[in-house]
Order: sequence, then C-alpha cells, then structure tokens
Amino acid sequence: MSIHEPFPDLDEMTAVIGEAGRRLSEIGASEGAAGNISVYLGWPMEARRRFPNVETIELPLAVPELACGCLLVTGSGRRLREAIQNPAANLGFVAIDEGGRTGRLHTSPLRLFDRLTSEFNSHLAVHRDQVRLTGTNFHAVVHAQPVSLTYLSHIPAYRNEDYLSRRLLRWQPEAIVNLPEGVGCLPFLVPGSAGLMAATIESLRAHRIVVWGKHGVMARSDQSVKRAVDRIEYAETAAHYEYTNLQNGEKGQGLTDDEIRAVAKAFGIEQKIF
Ligand SMILES: [Zn+2]
Repeated sequence: MSIHEPFPDLDEMTAVIGEAGRRLSEIGASEGAAGNISVYLGWPMEARRRFPNVETIELPLAVPELACGCLLVTGSGRRLREAIQNPAANLGFVAIDEGGRTGRLHTSPLRLFDRLTSEFNSHLAVHRDQVRLTGTNFHAVVHAQPVSLTYLSHIPAYRNEDYLSRRLLRWQPEAIVNLPEGVGCLPFLVPGSAGLMAATIESLRAHRIVVWGKHGVMARSDQSVKRAVDRIEYAETAAHYEYTNLQNGEKGQGLTDDEIRAVAKAFGIEQKIF
C-alpha cells in the first residue's frame, strides 16, 4: 500500500497527528506524557517555514532504505493530547540524509522538547522494516498505553499470543475483520531498549498491533495515522470486554469459534486464529 498524489502537505500531516493524539487521550491510552507517534513520508517535503531551526542528529540505527525520506516525530516528554493545539511545538521533522545514518532535525522556535521520543529507535526500525518489505511511501507508527490491554498483559496467561488473540477477538463480530492477524504479544522488555526494538520489528511483521508486556502497545499502518490508532482502539475495546468478563466471573459467552469463522467467511477474511 502506498499513498498517491496529491500528497498531504505538512500542515495536514501535523493536524492528523494532533487528532490521533487527542483520540488516544480520549480512550485513556495516553496519560501524562505517555505514548508517542511517528510518520514516515517517502516524498519530498518542505519543512523550513514551520520548522526553521536545523541541527544534524545521528539516527539510533542506520536506515538506508529511508534515505532522502522524512519523518514527523513527537518530542520526548510531550503530551499527545496537546499536539493538536500547537503541532510545531510538540513535533520534530527529520529529513533523513543520504546513506540513512544521520538526519537533519528541523524544529520550531516554539519547540517544547529536548530530544525526540525515547522510543525513536523502535519507531525508526519498524518504519525501515516495513518500507524494506513492502516499498510503501507512507508509514505510521503509534505507541500508547491503553489500560485494559496493558492490565491483561500483567496476567501471565495473556502473555501468550494465541491465547490473547482468542480471548480478545471473541467479543465483537468486527474484531476478526479489523484484526485478522490477531494481536502480537511480547514479554516485558525495558522501554527504549535494543531488545524491545528487535522484538517489535519481528512481531509487527506478522501483526498490525503488538502488546508490549506490562507496558503498552505499538501499532502500525501504511494507510493513515488514524488507522493505526483505530487498531489500538479496537484491541483496547476488546480488552475492556475481557476485563469486565473476568470481573463478572466469566459469565459472558463471547462469540463461538463457529460464529467467528462464519463472520470471517462472510467478509472474505483469511485468519488462522479460530
Ligand atoms: Zn511507553
């Protein structure tokens, strides 16, 4: 999947990131400064009017596949819910240099952060991997901390990918349509670490959303930032059903395997979970 011309301009892209941040906040997935968003754009974009200050930064990993593309990334310690009011103050624009080892970080004089998000390595690695695999010219990555999903990941049984997906996708008929690959799941790994980055790349090859055990989630989309946020919302809603059912002594039935298979068949969804 790629985005076709006319490409969205910088103001449209920053507005969409702002709206995504606001939605994550509305669903309780972004308390305080939790969560971060980045978007890879594989077409030329002029950023100097909004982001006139320029410095060279070393990228946390070499991304030759993204060379000459650019990224919009949330700043470390910024509140996602506030990005919509003043995108330039909360976002950095990175033009990736030839070779993909360094970038020019463009920022606004209104800039309210020192560094880009502390999860920048995982964002960059997932963009690189997906661009390398699919050749897409657009890719959005969102990290958030939805409460119910994250809570479930504290229960050992839910850190099994197959179990987690089977338990989550049984609560709404649309779940298998929206998340046909299920939900990936990683053990707890230190935030910002190389281990988390490597495991996230691997899991997001097979899924569009992965739970970071005892921490939160990361979702991706090659269509739009909102699609990535939608995936978080679908999975979190399912997790809320599951959590409610646990509290209710598991009285809820959920859709049966046969019922879910019938939905998948009717919607032409290929799935291996049920
Ligand atoms: Zn986090």
